[in-house]
Amino acid sequence: MALSGHPVSFWIDSTLPSSYPALSQDVSVDVAVVGAGLAGVVTAKLLKQAGKTVALIEADRIGTGTSGHTTAKVSALHQLIYADLIDQHGPEKACLYGESNQAAIARLADLIAADNIDCDFEHKPNYTFATDNDGLDQVKAEVEAAQRIGLPATFVGSLDLPFAIKGAIELPDQAQFHPRKFMLAIAATLPGDGSHIFEQTRVKTVEDEGPCRVITQNGPTVTAQDVVITTNLPILDIGLYFAKTYPQRSYLVGGHIDPNRAPQGMYIGVGQGYRSLRTTPTDDGGTLLIVGGEGHKVGQDDATDERYQRLEDYLRSQFGVEPEYRWSGQDLKSFDQLPYIGQLTPAHQHTFVATGFSLWGMAKSVVSAMVLSDRITGVENPWAELYEATRPTPFVTTTSIQKNLEVGAHWVGDRFKGLFDSTDSVAPGEGKLVTHKGGKVAAYRDEHNQLHTVSAVCPHLGCIVAWNQAETSWDCPCHGSRFSTEGKILHGPAVKPLEQKVCD
Ligand SMILES: Cc1cc2nc3c(=O)[nH]c(=O)nc-3n(C[C@H](O)[C@H](O)[C@H](O)COP(=O)(O)OP(=O)(O)OC[C@H]3O[C@@H](n4cnc5c(N)ncnc54)[C@H](O)[C@@H]3O)c2cc1C
Repeated sequence: MALSGHPVSFWIDSTLPSSYPALSQDVSVDVAVVGAGLAGVVTAKLLKQAGKTVALIEADRIGTGTSGHTTAKVSALHQLIYADLIDQHGPEKACLYGESNQAAIARLADLIAADNIDCDFEHKPNYTFATDNDGLDQVKAEVEAAQRIGLPATFVGSLDLPFAIKGAIELPDQAQFHPRKFMLAIAATLPGDGSHIFEQTRVKTVEDEGPCRVITQNGPTVTAQDVVITTNLPILDIGLYFAKTYPQRSYLVGGHIDPNRAPQGMYIGVGQGYRSLRTTPTDDGGTLLIVGGEGHKVGQDDATDERYQRLEDYLRSQFGVEPEYRWSGQDLKSFDQLPYIGQLTPAHQHTFVATGFSLWGMAKSVVSAMVLSDRITGVENPWAELYEATRPTPFVTTTSIQKNLEVGAHWVGDRFKGLFDSTDSVAPGEGKLVTHKGGKVAAYRDEHNQLHTVSAVCPHLGCIVAWNQAETSWDCPCHGSRFSTEGKILHGPAVKPLEQKVCD
């Protein structure tokens, strides 16, 4: 399949690589923050502002995980959420959810203003639109629910989009920014006065035994009074976060649009074939239109390249824009629609997590940072109870049962995949599960006919990985770990690579 876009996130392509040192000797700080996505970077910033010494520890480079592969709309309007939240949790909790996300936008704006950060931050209205009557009913219900809990939402009948809509909900004064410019600028303010950033430092585990010990693959250890784990899905298997969420992948494409024809707000459609839209300024003075959609559970689609194709077709047919970029990312969906922010388990007094942002983690990362920095510095926080990570979990919702059954089915069923296939059956450019000497092997043959073979067993909890043609990677359908064809970790929660296999 001939895709046009350059396969890199615009946010990463338009910023310089960071180069903080790896951890090379034991270090002691007040708080260790593990994972330098938006949640980790802002948490470290707020803790440092509150007078704590911090060590921000990143396996790869700052902002290259999900936060570097996002659409970066910062909003309290999360497609359709308030009617569901009121149904599931009641109006008071729905109100706290709206209030905390609105407060996060204001806090983000303050951080940007205080450090004079150039990150293309702009206030914009955010819209959720319907193009059919079913969607219209949902949008109307969402307007009513949002107004009921005090959000300044309104119904609008038309938008500046090049196709007809039935109606939309508008939430004014939301925001968009360049997430990596922001994360790099905030990160630059962290080192010094006893605080550090360590990149290329993968954390293996954390021992919560006052003080906590953060054990890294590099060898040295970070000792801290408190540890915050912001690795998207927590790397520790304690607390069942992998069973309280499921990993969802989503795709984006972008290309330059004539600024006079560019839509002015941020938009997302409702329903199965939804599209998400925003623009961003580019350094050449132009405007990039970004279109997203095509979400699915990680590792559960073997035609991922067709998803890009559909988005590229949409960009051309609806906007006359030629695709220049394409990228994808993943996030954890929470079964009760609320993120998990707080103590890892009731027994872990000094280890905290933030996860389950459900593909709306820009504002929620800032909410997490506010909740966790308050928690660690002993300040009461109005949203801590709503998001408490140890709250009773709705394991018996239709979605959670289905998703956890799917995990069980993969764990067992995928062991039979490729049972009668050998490496000879793998064509150039193809990735395939094969069997070698009784073991399950993930085999990829590159365009030069070179075979790359690694174990197909995910080191996280033992599921069998699946081939992702669009990203040339091995993805775990159970909990979302992803690996290169050489077995290198591309996305956690795994903390070990896929084992090398020699198949001669
Ligand atoms: C395609 C897409 C579009 C989206 N669009 C929007 C949007 O418009 N608005 C919105 O609000 N949200 C959006 N989201 C969701 C949002 O991007 C995420 O919720 C958010 O970026 C998650 O941030 P994070 O800090 O939790 O994770 P990440 O950004 O993934 O950060 C986690 C970091 O931890 C590091 N790490 C992992 N394991 C280890 C380890 N063992 N040791 C050390 N470091 C480790 C990783 O390398 C990574 O850098 C979107 C998501 C996707 C996928």
